Amino acid sequence: MTIQDEQRPTLTTEAGAPVADNQNTETAGVGGPALIQDQLLFEKLAHFNRERIPERVVHARGAGAYGTFTVTADVTPWTRAAFLSEVGRQTEVFLRFSTVAGNLGAADAVRDPRGFALKFYTEEGNYDLVGNNTPVFFIKDAVKFPDFIHTQKRDPYSGSQEADNVWDFWGLSPEATHQVTWLFGDRGIPASYRHMNGYGSHTYQWQNEAGEHFWVKYHFKTDQGIRNLTQAEANTLAGEDPDSHQRDLRSSIEQGDFPSWTVQVQIMPAADAAQYRFNPFDLTKVWPHADYPPIEIGRLELNRNPDNVFAEVEQSVFSPAHFVPGIGPSPDKMLQGRLFAYADAHRYRVGINADHLPVNRPHATEARTNSRDGHLYDGRHGRQKNYEPNSFGGPVQTGRPLWAATAVDGLTGNHVAPSHAEDDDFVQAGTLYRLFSEEEKQRLIANLAGFIAKVSADREDIVERAVDNFRKADADYGQRLDAAVRELRKQ
Ligand code: NDP
Repeated sequence: MTIQDEQRPTLTTEAGAPVADNQNTETAGVGGPALIQDQLLFEKLAHFNRERIPERVVHARGAGAYGTFTVTADVTPWTRAAFLSEVGRQTEVFLRFSTVAGNLGAADAVRDPRGFALKFYTEEGNYDLVGNNTPVFFIKDAVKFPDFIHTQKRDPYSGSQEADNVWDFWGLSPEATHQVTWLFGDRGIPASYRHMNGYGSHTYQWQNEAGEHFWVKYHFKTDQGIRNLTQAEANTLAGEDPDSHQRDLRSSIEQGDFPSWTVQVQIMPAADAAQYRFNPFDLTKVWPHADYPPIEIGRLELNRNPDNVFAEVEQSVFSPAHFVPGIGPSPDKMLQGRLFAYADAHRYRVGINADHLPVNRPHATEARTNSRDGHLYDGRHGRQKNYEPNSFGGPVQTGRPLWAATAVDGLTGNHVAPSHAEDDDFVQAGTLYRLFSEEEKQRLIANLAGFIAKVSADREDIVERAVDNFRKADADYGQRLDAAVRELRKQ
């Protein structure tokens, strides 16, 4: 049977004209050079050359899935967000998981935080919660973010990640001690995206119908149980199956084994914030559960794979500035920077109409703006007027702010955040260390020492500063790490 006999659709050019021959370039005579009139050849090669868009500078490597968020508790005392307004209410979501430092083709099984970026397609617009698998972060001010990431990425001269740069920066940034302890502990290499928790990490604002506001932190606790890889297991897996996380997520959903997370929030009444023992807007700190117990509010399930990874995962965009009525930002200085940086990254990577793509546009409502045109504008607004105010029945503002106004005082300036009674950069790193089992402490020390020992022999000062931060977190932690690093550097 020939291909023709199968009654298959005709292959066409991008303009829809039938393709006569997709096997042989048109040439001048048999065995001669190609002809410029063979536009199929040039169209295919030119399109292929442009198939990649700039990868994300961070979180380049990811996998995603659609699913459902279901409300399981009454949260109306704290927020008026419509998608959270009644028990049993369901909202479609898209979740993109990622590693942070690696490039697009990097292996999944590496020691690195994991991104946990969630888009709720609500009837009041898309709400994006751009979280991680850890409740804290390395730094607390967005102005340090480009410097921090430069130390994690490739050195301008060597073209590789350099232990000197990583430990120099962390040693000089004591606020990183908590997150670094987390990263080099057992949860630093999750076995898969399904076997880890997600955290909103930042503090956000919720506002209820009465106008009162609260500070809130989100937790997504895996129902699959926490599972991690040791460094040795990860080293093997990264070589044998670089796509391990991506494959695990896709195949579990294909088999109907839908991963889920129990969603919890910690709620802080607004009046508590000023006097709380820690700065509640410091991204390097958690709110201890004893102070603000997690309250279960929902269940997140992933149940549908994307059909096209490029269209739906690579081009999916998230912005922590995508709020809905009843939810807003906090003064967390890392969050404030991200409110700008995420949407800006996507305007550059995907283009000004990124929010029009199927994975990014609202699914439960429609966007009604007066923005128009730009690269790849699809003409969706037709003849509608593109300005406001207008007297042609165009969309109008509500007059009601999405979130509560908060009081500010003092002078503008490059201020250090307000200090609270128990604030320091080490206290919670020490708490986390002491929470680890003896076996986990041993693995933590070995993981840290193995990396610190790679610092150049003539930069003992970098090693000293790095170890000193862990010593300040916990004397036993520092002493054991110091001994392990010295032992390795003798070899
Ligand atoms: P709590 O006892 O109230 O909370 C302990 C938390 O630590 C639990 O959420 C638990 O998560 C998590 N945890 C348990 N074992 C590990 C581990 N090996 N690695 C990382 N996390 C672990 O204590 P605190 O609230 O005072 O927090 C103590 C430390 O726990 C903090 O310094 C922080 O690093 C870490 N932590 C705190 C969280 C918070 O929101 N308060 C959230 C997650 C971690 P699980 O139930 O999933 O086992």
